[in-house]
Amino acid sequence: MIEVIDLKKVFENGYEALKSVNFTIEKGDLVCLLGPSGCGKSTILNLIAGLLSPSDGDIRFAGNSVVKTEPKDRNIGFVFQNYALYPHMTVFENVMFPLTVGDKKKPKAEAMAIAEKYMELTNIGELRNKKPGTLSGGQQQRVAITRALVQNPEVLLLDEPLSNLDARLRLKIREEIRRLVKEVGITTIFVTHDQEEALSISDKIILLNEGVVQQDDDPQNLYLEP
Ligand code: ADP
Ligand code: ADP
Repeated sequence: MIEVIDLKKVFENGYEALKSVNFTIEKGDLVCLLGPSGCGKSTILNLIAGLLSPSDGDIRFAGNSVVKTEPKDRNIGFVFQNYALYPHMTVFENVMFPLTVGDKKKPKAEAMAIAEKYMELTNIGELRNKKPGTLSGGQQQRVAITRALVQNPEVLLLDEPLSNLDARLRLKIREEIRRLVKEVGITTIFVTHDQEEALSISDKIILLNEGVVQQDDDPQNLYLEP
């Protein structure tokens, strides 16, 4: 489903963040990109989403190169670390927003039905009239994921989605995320620096270090330093 081939990224200041990254992700898998801070995880997500362009190499979705396409033509749902919800809109308005503008615009009744369906799946129906600023971190996380899913993306990208949550909530939400993406059946890339988190939720782990893939395997086959 997603092929990353000889991907390189050198930033304007000359820093080589990705040296030559290769991996493949199967449709429907939940894959963790695991590695220490600064190893290039966010750079890879940004390249897949089209928010950055590669210095070299290719990214293919279902066999087609996407590196020359605009972010909006990649059909990706991106959940940012800080959630990036619209503060002046209610939860319902946030979830509806992608369905009221641009290519994904739907007639109002249809948009509302889609929003309702996903709000039920993520259990945020009761929060519909609240503003993001009044929600807990876990609730904002659910809203951000819901807003990504209503667009029916082919791929869901989650950048350290649990890093702003306390330890107890992290356990709960990561299980919710696994259940949700499996229920929806969406291919998901989950970025984390937490080994235990990666081992507990992923179908496959891509271990990165200093801009190269060190291992790429099922969690049970991965060798991790204790
Ligand atoms: P991670 O997500 O694994 O923490 P990043 O992908 O954010 O790592 O960053 C990888 C490396 O590239 C880091 O050393 C970071 O400082 C550097 N980097 C990221 N963005 C830029 C940029 N725009 N210009 C220069 N260096 C950058
Ligand atoms: P993350 O926590 O996802 O790794 P960072 O906090 O490292 O992200 O980076 C936040 C933003 O700053 C990103 O857009 C990244 O591209 C940019 N950035 C990171 N490192 C550098 C750097 N050394 N020079 C310029 N921009 C950077």
